[in-house]
Parts: sequence; structure tokens; C-alpha cells
Amino acid sequence: MRLSRYFLPVLKENPSEAQIVSHRLMLRAGMIKQASAGIYSWLPLGFKVLRKLENIVHEEQGRAGHMAMLMPTIQSADLWRESGRYDAYGAEMLRITDRHDRDMLFTPTAEELITDIFRAHVGSYKDLPLTMYQIQWKFRDEIRPRFGVMRGREFLMKDGYNFDLTKEDAMHSYNRHLVSYLRTYERMGLQAIPMRADSGPIGGDDTHEFLVLADTGESEVFYDSAVTDLTFGDRDIDYDDVAQCAGVMEEFTNLYARTDETHDEALFNAIPEERRRVARGIEVGQIFYFGTKYSEPLNAVVQGPDGKQVPVHMGSHGIGVSRLMGAIIEASHDDKGIIWPEGVTPYHCGIVNLKQGDAEADAACEALYASLGLLGLEPLYDDRNERAGGKFATMDLIGLPWRITVGPRGLKNGVVELTSRRTGVSEELPPEEAVKRVA
Ligand code: ATP
Ligand code: MG
Ligand code: MG
Ligand code: MG
Repeated sequence: MRLSRYFLPVLKENPSEAQIVSHRLMLRAGMIKQASAGIYSWLPLGFKVLRKLENIVHEEQGRAGHMAMLMPTIQSADLWRESGRYDAYGAEMLRITDRHDRDMLFTPTAEELITDIFRAHVGSYKDLPLTMYQIQWKFRDEIRPRFGVMRGREFLMKDGYNFDLTKEDAMHSYNRHLVSYLRTYERMGLQAIPMRADSGPIGGDDTHEFLVLADTGESEVFYDSAVTDLTFGDRDIDYDDVAQCAGVMEEFTNLYARTDETHDEALFNAIPEERRRVARGIEVGQIFYFGTKYSEPLNAVVQGPDGKQVPVHMGSHGIGVSRLMGAIIEASHDDKGIIWPEGVTPYHCGIVNLKQGDAEADAACEALYASLGLLGLEPLYDDRNERAGGKFATMDLIGLPWRITVGPRGLKNGVVELTSRRTGVSEELPPEEAVKRVA
């Protein structure tokens, strides 16, 4: 992409409505624009990162054997009356009436609809286990939308649903989700700690939230500092291996880590004092096992091996895809702007031409642009007629991991400058070497 043709409406001033750094930087970097309270348009740069996050979620769900599908955003109230949640959900649910006076709603989550699909088509235990998920826009009429995409009213969520014959099978699904979530967040450059939590309106007994530690987080969390030493890394996982998934679950949840809703002072005080931490966190996902809470009222039953009809055991699992963008920026920025982790960066490398119009500099930039493209990398070439200072400021603000700076003076010596956004360290190298380093 060439900046001269790109729509990147960066702001020089700090927008006054933004209270936290991620919101400020997303506005300043021209990634989003508020359409109304808690509702945003995703401009090209923001949308590009959103797609990257979605792709990581799809890849990791696919790896875990979960099937992607898509359900509508507008749903009929009938199913929600059947489950008993239509009234229970309260003011967070956006209710709509169509021209025939039918009660509709904008989906805040989709347990009812997926259960309806299940009951229409699955009748035997032989078709289990089954896990399907979608990445779809949700609407919750939050009383206080704030912090940009972190607490929007319209937001993008991955929601997955498992159907199993027994509680044991459903707990394997639960563990499999935990593993896939650990991998997902790590690929996004984040540490998200599973913490015992409260189930809220989804219901159920077993639930963990995934929290990214950040001072601006809305949740108060209590944990044993040893949990922050755990990483999943690139270990091999067989998602069908019940014991292996249970082992990971055990490893990542046996140390004390809880949100304030389930915090237990006595258990917390049993941790050696120097390891006790009270902090704040951003909820970027949650997994639930809720057994037959929806399958019973909605009559989602299968014939078991003994011929008897039994309600299926279910769980649901959410990732806040759009909120993650805010969380990543909260965790990875400096006073100049965003610092994208490699796995989610909108472009791999910026090219800054210090003297646009200089035949040699232009040609060197074009050559770099082409060779990066041939390697399957996406460069963002600042080919505008602007001062170097402004170009650097934009590149720092939008936070690409690498910047290659090209100017007539360097080219005389056969070199360009390669700068790492994270470390700020620059090196002079021949252009081919710079390309190799970026790849
Ligand atoms: P919160 O406690 O922040 O209100 P929640 O517990 O109500 O979130 P869940 O029902 O668990 O949310 O939904 C799954 C995920 O969707 C959450 O973990 C979070 O990452 C994301 N999410 C929930 N509400 C919002 C929102 N208003 N804006 C952006 N993301 C959200
Ligand atoms: Mg909520
Ligand atoms: Mg919550
Ligand atoms: Mg939650």
C-alpha cells in the first residue's frame, strides 16, 4: 500500500473524549471513528487489524476442530421467551419491533439460536461431540459505553458452543477451549490469564475469564504472581487427547487467580505474601460450562447409547475480538504511539522515502516495495511529499514493527536504515539485507 493513496486520517492533537491510551491512539492513528455512543466505523487501518485478529481466531478454532458458521444479528424474541432469558436479560438487550409488530432483538449472544439449530438436526449421541462457532457483531446496550472499542455497544465477538453427551465430554470441550484460547492470545502477543469468575446472565457453574493485566482494566483481580510465568509457547497439542488438555487446564488454573466476584480472602492469604498481587485486568474472553441450562427448556435432546432421550451438555465460549484491539494497544505502546506485535500488525514494514522525487531514492523505494511484496510481506510505503519528521511521526504512531528509511545520502554508500519500532534501534544495511531481516 502507498500512503499517498491510502485513507489514513491521523490526528495531530489528542482527542479530548478519549480517557485511555488505546482509545486515544486508535483515534489518532485513524483506525476508528465513532458513529454514535459505543458504535464505531472501522477505517481501513483499524479494519485491517480487526481482520488479522479474526484470522488468528479462525485458525486456532479450526485447529481445535471447531466449525465456523454464521448466525443472524437480528433474532426473534420467541426463542428467548422459550429459554426464559427474554425478560431476564434486561436493559442491555436491544429490542426491536418489525412492521408486523413482531418482537425482535439484536443478538447479545446466541445460546438460544444455536440450540434451536441443534435440536432441529441432531437426534443421536452418535453425532456428538459437536462444536460450532461464529465471529459476529453483537449488540449490548451498555449503560456506560466507554474506552472506545473496549466497551462498545456494538462489538465483534467470537462465540462458540459445544454439545456433548455427558458432563465429562463437555469438560473436555471446556478444556479444549481453554487451550485454544491460550494459543490465540499468545499469537496476538498477549498474556491473558485464565481466572475463576462468575457466570453472569449466561449461567452455569464452571467458568473462567481470560484477563490481560492493565491499569486501565475494568476488573479487579487477585492472583499468585507465579501465574504470570506460565506460557503455552509452541508445544504440540493433540486436541483429541483428553488427558493432555486436562493437564494444560490444571497447569494454568491451579494457582490462585480470581476476579473480585469470586475472590476468596482466606485462600488468597494462604499464598506467600511476596507473591500476592491485587491488580486490574481487561476481560478478553470467557469460557462456560452450563450443562443442561439451555438444552432442557429448549428440549435439545439426543438418544443416548441406551436408547433413552437425554438433554445435551453444553458450554459456550467467547472472545472479545474488537475489544482485543484495545487490549493489545494498552499492553503495547509508548509515548509516540502503538507498537504492534508481529502477529497482528496491519503492515509488516514501513518504507519512508526521505526525498520523494529524487530519482534514485524513488527507485530504491520501489525496489524495496516490490521485493517485500514478492516475499508475501505487506509494506506500507510513505511516498508522500512531506517532511521527514512528519513521516517518522506517522510511522511511529501507527506502530509497524519495522521501518526502512531511504535517502539519497545513504544510497550513495549503498545503504538504507532499518529501525525496529519496539527497540528503537537503527542499523545501516544494504537494501537486500534489510529485506532479509524484515522477513
Ligand atoms: P464485561 O464483563 O466486560 O461486560 P461480559 O462478561 O459481559 O463482559 P461475555 O458475555 O463474557 O462478556 O462476552 C464474551 C467477551 O466479549 C468478553 O470476554 C469481552 O471480551 C467481550 N465483550 C463483552 N462485552 C463487550 C463490550 N461491551 N464491548 C466490547 N467487548 C465486549
Ligand atoms: Mg457485560
Ligand atoms: Mg464479565
Ligand atoms: Mg464475561
